[in-house]
Amino acid sequence: MMKSQRDSDQVHFNTGLYWFTNDLRVEDNRALLSASEKVTHLLCVYIVDPTWFTPNRYSQKSMGDLRWQFLHQSLDDLERSLKSLGQQLLVLYQSPVDALSELISNYSIDALFRSQNAGFYENRQWQLLQQRYQMLYFEELATHTLFAQSSLPFSLNNVPTSFSKFKKQVEPLAKDTHIVAIRSLPSSPKALSWSRPRNLPPMQADQQTLEFIGGAKQAKKHLLNYFSTRLPSSYKHVRNALDGWENSTKLSPWLANGCLSVRQVLRALQNYEASVEANESTYWISFELLWREYFQWVAHACSARLFAQRGVKRQKILTSFYPERFQRWCQGNTPYPLVNACMKQLNATGYMSNRGRQIVASCFVNELDLDWRYGAAYFEQHLVDYDMASNWGNWQYLAGVGMDPRGKRHFAIDKQAALYDPDKQFVTKWCGEVNCQRVDSVDAADWPIVTDEN
Ligand code: FAD
Repeated sequence: MMKSQRDSDQVHFNTGLYWFTNDLRVEDNRALLSASEKVTHLLCVYIVDPTWFTPNRYSQKSMGDLRWQFLHQSLDDLERSLKSLGQQLLVLYQSPVDALSELISNYSIDALFRSQNAGFYENRQWQLLQQRYQMLYFEELATHTLFAQSSLPFSLNNVPTSFSKFKKQVEPLAKDTHIVAIRSLPSSPKALSWSRPRNLPPMQADQQTLEFIGGAKQAKKHLLNYFSTRLPSSYKHVRNALDGWENSTKLSPWLANGCLSVRQVLRALQNYEASVEANESTYWISFELLWREYFQWVAHACSARLFAQRGVKRQKILTSFYPERFQRWCQGNTPYPLVNACMKQLNATGYMSNRGRQIVASCFVNELDLDWRYGAAYFEQHLVDYDMASNWGNWQYLAGVGMDPRGKRHFAIDKQAALYDPDKQFVTKWCGEVNCQRVDSVDAADWPIVTDEN
């Protein structure tokens, strides 16, 4: 019989395997702590899935160069942290289920641990292993969210249908901001010396991703820096800016990869509020983190429907596929300078402001009439802060197929430009000026469209 998580307090195992996924840190990693308390030997593993680098159903790969660079740096940092505790990190480049199956038999693993994951595909892999190895102990704990599922005032079948309802229910809950420290780890099963797989895709060394450098050490440094300034006190007034390192927290890539926990961020925020000031802006940072929390639980609840064209709502939508429009949007070559500038910023840096993301997503759905999933897949490849729940959840929300009872969001691009880029500084910086006045070069019958331009 498979041992359940309920028996966990009494159990002890000879050899456990810890599977790192979206929790690339040692500090405040409750799942790793729990594993370390239950085993004599521990094998720490990260698996790079080769399918991330091959074209998916949207003809895009899921892991772009900038994301890969950030992940690579995060793994290097995790490896160093583990080494300082006498541990090692085994990085494999293989299908996760195959890799874990081999490790289970090669190292006589009797317990597997990981952080709880909202991803449908990630959960399918875990379930497959549970079915295949019913005699083993499996445990997963929440490290990517602020709340544990058991502390939520609703079941996963009843996740509130709007953010405001969610906020009303969870905001009054006590927020546990206790940070767990791991001072030692069990040793590896054997004296092992392994190196990174030679066939790992190479990093594009010349890529500059703003100031985002992967890893828990950089995450902590950035967190401390941000909260050592007065920036949190003005966050709400500047967070909508299209550009500028200091206009929002820029914590998202580290949160997405788990180099930093949401608890660590809230703890730093609480310290700031206690020692510097608490105002509307500092409140707004926790408000945004609740949006993040909302999308995590929506993803847990919706599983594969998060990726369905008709969305969580099973809403019928009318779109077609226009390859030319899609290409133009990706390259920043649409009739909309603001959209072009945002897309060029994304392509060059792996980051785009929240306002920018809303504008380009709205343009994708409303002006270009494209299937929102292709936009989400493009973001997945390029955003260094790609987070499955936040990305696909926000796209569904904008396309009007998410949980929310309201329809799709339509941002008037001219109005947005007048509000957020009145003197065209952003458009000029990112070369957003328009090369084409139309979205299509041919009409519905494939005839070239004749304009004054040609
Ligand atoms: P801040 O404004 O400083 O916010 C603080 C933190 O709150 C962020 O780091 C993030 O963790 C969280 N947050 C803020 N806004 C949101 C939101 N709308 N949804 C969820 N969490 C939020 N965020 C991601 O982390 N990964 C994604 O893949 C992602 N894809 C998006 C796709 C679209 C179409 C849209 C509209 C938004 C997306 N976001 C995503 C949310 C948001 O744009 C980013 O979290 C934010 O811009 C990151 O910058 P920041 O850390 O400076 O944010």
